[in-house]
Formats: sequence, C-alpha cells, structure tokens
Amino acid sequence: MNADEELRALEGAGVAQCRVCGCNELRRWVHLPQMPFTEELRSADDPNPVFLADIDVYLCAGCGASVTTHEPPFGDYYVDYHYTTSSSGLASRFMDRLAETLFHRFKLPPGCRVLEVGSGDGAQLQAFQRRGAVVLGFEPSALLCRISRTRGIPVIEGLFEASSISLLPAAFGRADVVLMTYTFDHLPDPSGALAAAHMSLHPNSGLLVLEVHDLALIVRRREYCLFEHEHFTYWTANTLRKALARCGFKLLTTELLPEQERRGNSLLVVAAPMAAHYEPDQSALDAENPIELRYDGFQHELDKGIAALDRFVEREAAAGRKIAGYGGGGRGVMTMAAMRSAALLSYVCDSNRGLHGTIAPKSNVPIVGIEMLASHPVDTLLVFSYGYMDEIAAAVRAQPHAPARIISMLEVLGG
Ligand SMILES: [Zn+2]
Repeated sequence: MNADEELRALEGAGVAQCRVCGCNELRRWVHLPQMPFTEELRSADDPNPVFLADIDVYLCAGCGASVTTHEPPFGDYYVDYHYTTSSSGLASRFMDRLAETLFHRFKLPPGCRVLEVGSGDGAQLQAFQRRGAVVLGFEPSALLCRISRTRGIPVIEGLFEASSISLLPAAFGRADVVLMTYTFDHLPDPSGALAAAHMSLHPNSGLLVLEVHDLALIVRRREYCLFEHEHFTYWTANTLRKALARCGFKLLTTELLPEQERRGNSLLVVAAPMAAHYEPDQSALDAENPIELRYDGFQHELDKGIAALDRFVEREAAAGRKIAGYGGGGRGVMTMAAMRSAALLSYVCDSNRGLHGTIAPKSNVPIVGIEMLASHPVDTLLVFSYGYMDEIAAAVRAQPHAPARIISMLEVLGG
C-alpha cells in the first residue's frame, strides 16, 4: 500500500484524525518499517517474538503538528518500565538547574506546589523539594513509584488524564507548577492532558513546564531514532505554542535554560494560563513564526542518514577494525534497529546496570557494561547517546585498552 492508499484505508476506518485538533487532513512524511519498542528489554533466549511495527508520522494540515494515528499494544510496557537516566551526573545537574532557574526567574515562594506528570524515580521533584516546594508526582510504573516513595517523594500511581484531577489531595490545592519533562509527547491525548494541567494550575500564577524533543532539530540532524512508537506527537516551538493557546495557555519562553544546559534535542518551554500575570519574552514571540521544515524531502534525508551509518560501520569492519556502540537506551536501540549493519557491532555499552545482559530488540546487539571495553577491546566506539558525549568519553578513556576512536553518531548521520 502506498501512503495515499494507506491514508484512505485509515480514513475508511474512521481513525485518521489528528490527535491534537481533530482535523482529518493528514499527510504521511515519515515511514520507518518494522521498528521495535525503544526499551523492550529482552534476554537472548526470550521465546516470545519481538514486537515490530511500522512507524508512520503524519503532518496535520489543521494545526501543523506531527502525529501518529494508531496506538501500539503497550500492554504492561509502562507498568514494567524502569529505564531512568537520573544516575547520570549530567541528568542530575539538569534537574537541579531546572528547579533553580524556575524558582529564581518566576520568584516561586517557599511552600509552592509542584506537580510532576511522569515523575519517574522522583529525582526531579526532589530538586524542588530541597528548595522548599511541596511536591507530588504522577507515575504509571509501580517500581518507580516505590523508589520515589523510598526517597520521600509522594506519588500517585497512574497515568495523568482529565479524571486524574479528582485524585489530587484536597490539601495540595492548586499547583504553582505542573511539570512534564519528556512525558508530554508520550501522551495519546495531548489536548486532554493540557486541559487537565489547566484545571490543576493556579489561574493567576500557575506555570506549565513542558520538555519535548524539538522536531526542527530532529529534522536538521536526521535524528530518525527519535521517531518512536512511544511518541504520539512531535513538536516545534510554533506548533506547541498553537496547541497551548487552543487549551488556554500562553507561551512565556522557549529559553528557560540556554541550549548547552538542556538535554540533547530538547525543546523546553514554560507556559501559563492566559489570565496569569506573566509576560511572554522575545523567544515566545519568535515562536509565532512557523519554522519552514522540509517535510516533503525528509524521508530521503532519513534514508541517506541510515545509509551513512551503514557505510561507516561496514567500512570499519572491512578495514579489520572492531567496532562497538555506546548507549543502550532509546537512541541506540532505534538507530541500530534501522541499520542493516548492526550485527557488525560487537556489543553496545551502557552505564545503566538494568540493561546489562539484555539484547537490543530487533538488532539483537548485546548490551553490556563499560568493563567489556577492557576485556573485549574494540578499535572504534560509535556513541548513540551523544548528549552525554563528554561524560562518556571521559569514562571510556579511563578504561584499559580504550578504543582509539570515539565518534558521535551525529557526526556520521550527517555524512
Ligand atoms: Zn491537528
């Protein structure tokens, strides 16, 4: 089926609607065939077949957002989900800077209420609690909820949706801050979540903080690994501003933190209810200009990126050099899943012990600890989690027999 036939079939089934605005004029612009979930941990002898499905992303003519139209069979995926990056020094510094900057810039009072949707292990809320905030998390993973409570961060186990408002304790009152960092694009009903956030927030002084992957950067860097089954929506500053406005929010800034302090590829924005007393800064006004993304030519760019990665790995192997990857999280899993040459990677290292001993879904590359670089040395290390490049390079170079060459996948993707 070509894209048009597929879309007609979807329309026939009555499901091809934009999940942001309801418009049914959708045009497919990204197609990645047979991709796995980003963080499905598998053992090498797992008898169950790996989940694989096409990833298709559509541009909505109504609101300009990019959306998926189906919901993959997640099952207990998020309940069992336990991947977390807060063990990284860089990630902890980011969380601390985010809390510090919000307190300072928006003059948050002691005892302010901070509600985080997708609060994970509670590390981000802890950074607010240390500064005197009263905090509460929403988190669907039972395991992460237990970890969160152990560190003294109260959390409600579940997804955040319109009905979640009734679960908020009366004593918590209206929130001063609602946070969704790398959560908002995982929500199948983004407008419903924004409406729920609006109801939870103080109408005159509430702040909504959203962090998503910046679609403009994904396109510029050909970073196809960020198209995931787990992401339902993809945003630029402009389309996010419009979606926020439709739900009663005004965008205040896209520059809460300077780029070098944000996480790889992050679009970090602060918004407030329309009636709130804050004024938008220049970056928020700039977001009124749509970014001209070349949607039509992107599939070709994406294919060229994958081909460049394959060429790089195959050349290293042909020259007799051993090569491994670094980063067994989403970026590594999805990048390798689309490469025909992934089997030439000896292994992929990751600092997250929870991943060790598993294999990456579809590519079947084993995920191991960094010590493997000493016991089974390689010549070249291809870093998928490039956002942590400096931290990774320092840790790798401290190993005996460290690889002669450490290269970011971004450098290869652009080739
Ligand atoms: Zn739309």
